[in-house]
Amino acid sequence: TVRTRIAPSPTGDPHVGTAYVALFNLCFAKQHGGEFILRIEDTDQTRSTRASEQVIFDSLHWLGIEWSEGPDVGGPHAPYRQSERGDIYVEHVQRLLNSGHAFKCYRTTEELEALREARRAEGNFSALKQDDLALPSDEVARREARGEPYVVRMKVPSEGVCVVEDLLRGPIELDWAQVDAQILMKSDGMPTYHLANVVDDHLMGITHVLRGEEWINSASKHKLLYQYFGWEMPVLCHLPLLRNPDKTKLSKRKNPTSINYYRKMGYLPQALLNYLGRMGWSMPDEREKFSLEQMQAHFDIQRVSLGGPVFDLDKLTWLNGVYLREDLSDEQFVEAMREWAFNDDYIAKLLPEVRPRVQTLSEVIPLAGHFFSGVPKLEADDFEAIAIDQERQVALLQFLAWRLEALEEWSKEALMAQARTLAEHFELKMKVFLAPVFVAITGSLTSTSVLDAMAIIGSDLTRARLRNAIE
Ligand code: ATP
Ligand code: GLU
Repeated sequence: TVRTRIAPSPTGDPHVGTAYVALFNLCFAKQHGGEFILRIEDTDQTRSTRASEQVIFDSLHWLGIEWSEGPDVGGPHAPYRQSERGDIYVEHVQRLLNSGHAFKCYRTTEELEALREARRAEGNFSALKQDDLALPSDEVARREARGEPYVVRMKVPSEGVCVVEDLLRGPIELDWAQVDAQILMKSDGMPTYHLANVVDDHLMGITHVLRGEEWINSASKHKLLYQYFGWEMPVLCHLPLLRNPDKTKLSKRKNPTSINYYRKMGYLPQALLNYLGRMGWSMPDEREKFSLEQMQAHFDIQRVSLGGPVFDLDKLTWLNGVYLREDLSDEQFVEAMREWAFNDDYIAKLLPEVRPRVQTLSEVIPLAGHFFSGVPKLEADDFEAIAIDQERQVALLQFLAWRLEALEEWSKEALMAQARTLAEHFELKMKVFLAPVFVAITGSLTSTSVLDAMAIIGSDLTRARLRNAIE
């Protein structure tokens, strides 16, 4: 039976690209009566977090994407988190070492750099292969005896082409000359993406790999690994990447890419999912509005077109409006409002901000409207009353936005620490420093505490409002 998967790395905000690839994998599996599973690729221990993993689960569930096996639901091939499968990778690397398809490489970083430098000087830009990396056998023995760190690399042909079959693109030719003897296991014993991905796809019975086209160049290494292990390779299908309207790769500098941004802005999950379904794909009758069930029923991978699909915010917003106006019953509309912000949990969070500042309930919304909106409409004179000149205000907001980009834990304390450091840097009293932030986030100078507001509305909306104020 057909088995597909999504294999996200929990290293940041849940990307709309992840939802898009997940959607196509889900539809492909369901259309063949198969299974769709989720695996967490968290071998990059410095960047992976459990919090990010949870946000991926939550945001995919919110969209209505469900998997039948995964770290949260278990399944016959558990564990589904690569960080818990260390023994499996060690065993498989050993197999490749035993069969002579991989080798231990004791080269230090400095040696590797010197090697590359020397080759560059000769005008040689080809990849580093096993022979280039080899050390005299007594030197290997010496380093081994001293217990020096090593990585395990796979052997790679030095010339010729590797032909990889792609479901949409047909045969793709990849030059071996460009491919380094790829590291399979790092010196800390953690596998690299390539090894873990191939081993897990095989052991988890994955029959079709639908993933972003950015992985095409990895396909030759993967094909070779399947050969080394003597395994059948899944069918590969590389989906076109989502694009900004200017056709560059969708990036958060030009477009919000976090699923949670769309959730917080009040898009409906079914509208976003529908829109993602239109990325490079269309229904046989070309209709624009369709449900997940309808997409599954009519799915045909051959209808994916390879021209880069443009993720256009205006079109998505239009489609969302159609859903709100035409699709939801009155009850569903009320329910959607409730799910979005008018629920006990959210209101309870605002209470400490609002309660000390009102005398009647009718003052709540005028005071706290920024908790129930997207991005405020700002006028230049909103910032004029502030005792910092305009240019510095922009710089200050920009610096804050950059710092918050890198913030790992989104809490009032963490936000406070960032604001303090920056205020010092700008040599401003905290109160003065926060004034433009106030306007950017809440739309006015008199409102609830701005750092609390940022903590409550979350990173996605905060970023969007800062960006809005800078532009
Ligand atoms: P970078 O700008 O460094 O490439 P990113 O915004 O692409 O970062 P990643 O963390 O690299 O984000 O990717 C997260 C997931 O989203 C990956 O699975 C990746 O395949 C997918 N993804 C990223 N960009 C796109 C895109 N333009 N189209 C489709 N999927 C994408
Ligand atoms: N972990 C990879 C990612 O984040 C998976 C790529 C693949 O599907 O092979 O996109």
